[in-house]
Amino acid sequence: MSSPLTTPLVATDTAASALFIEKRPLEDYAAPAQPSLIGMTREALAEALGEVGVPERQRRMRAQQLWHWLYVRGVQDFKAMTTLSKDLRAALEQRFTLARPEIAAEQVSVDGTRKWLLRLPGEPGSDPHEVECVYIPETDRGTLCLSSQVGCTLNCTFCHTGTQRLVRNLTAGEIVGQVVLARDRLNDWQRAMAAGGEPEKRLVSNIVMMGMGEPLYNFEAVRDGLNVVADGDGLSISKRRITLSTSGVIPNIARAGAEIGCMLAVSLHAVTDELRDELVPLNRKYPLRELLDACRNYPGVSNARRITFEYVMLKGVNDSLVDAKALVRLLKGIPAKINLIPFNPWPGTKYECSDWEQIEKFSEIVFAAGYASPVRTPRGRDILAACGQLKSATEKLSARERLALRAMAMTD
Ligand code: SAH
Ligand code: SF4
Repeated sequence: MSSPLTTPLVATDTAASALFIEKRPLEDYAAPAQPSLIGMTREALAEALGEVGVPERQRRMRAQQLWHWLYVRGVQDFKAMTTLSKDLRAALEQRFTLARPEIAAEQVSVDGTRKWLLRLPGEPGSDPHEVECVYIPETDRGTLCLSSQVGCTLNCTFCHTGTQRLVRNLTAGEIVGQVVLARDRLNDWQRAMAAGGEPEKRLVSNIVMMGMGEPLYNFEAVRDGLNVVADGDGLSISKRRITLSTSGVIPNIARAGAEIGCMLAVSLHAVTDELRDELVPLNRKYPLRELLDACRNYPGVSNARRITFEYVMLKGVNDSLVDAKALVRLLKGIPAKINLIPFNPWPGTKYECSDWEQIEKFSEIVFAAGYASPVRTPRGRDILAACGQLKSATEKLSARERLALRAMAMTD
């Protein structure tokens, strides 16, 4: 089997062909026989070094050297780790790999957006799992949208991920692995090293946890993974540039603030408990008032560090002007940004995307209340167009394309 890291699978230059790229056959997948060092925390690396016989007093220093090779240089071969002795490199290579999650397909769209379909080991004897990772370039930033789970245990009625039967948590390594493989594929390691204190010079400058899954139901792995990603001596993506989106797992919101310290986005989608109970069933457990209290108390929240409220626009369901006014009232006193997300339909859904005029009227009310650019442009407009005009094409989209559209609509 050829390596997914050295074989550029697809580099299409038309949007139409970008939608229909064949995947690598499932049979090609081989789960790594040995554990990968990619994604390990410093402590885990020190332990790994212990396993290959490095004496305890040397482990911290060696772990630091490994850290640099993994997360600053992005090396894909133990032989390149020239600050480690040949013997140590050989011992590591016998026991570990530097494998990233396998790329099963890569798509490049006309606007530079890249979508990766990744395969992860399944349970012994069963098929591998698949998740998505999307890169969205913009003029002043490049945002990577990461998945935290295969599928999702919550069943938000407008979300396709929630209809998937299989659910497994990603490991911290698989979360960090998405960032590492994006840097590989975008040739971003050199640029990242040269960028120094100017993060916007890197291609991957921002991270959003808005792919598949509910990150706060995989708390420890997400926390450990994001702390590796934010480490200033490594991948170095600052916590102000990392946004975690949750459907409202209240007990873990405060923990996210204390133990991760990243920016928070909350999937609100409704202004009454009655409607939110239906759209986001988790609301029955954690209702609106308590959710907004948790937001008010989110550690570090301020006008410079606002909470993003996501609001998916569903025709005739939550998009009335009465809803818009109630939304503004509800968020009063919370340093907030509002992201109106055009609904992306999927086969079998009972919802439709709100009409463009309705979204405009809704956003005017939000804008008049002091919230800037609630619907993103120009790409947001692209997506709106897709939402209304390409409905039949959108119905045919795979989960991968829908996720990309969604992610594009959501980066702030
Ligand atoms: N589970 C987390 C993060 C992943 S979903 C959460 O719910 O916040 C990321 C965002 O996409 C959420 O705001 C979610 O409500 C929204 N979303 C899900 N399905 C969508 C769809 N079909 N169209 C538009 N937005 C969608
Ligand atoms: Fe899960 Fe988020 Fe989808 Fe709800 S919107 S089902 S929490 S991924």
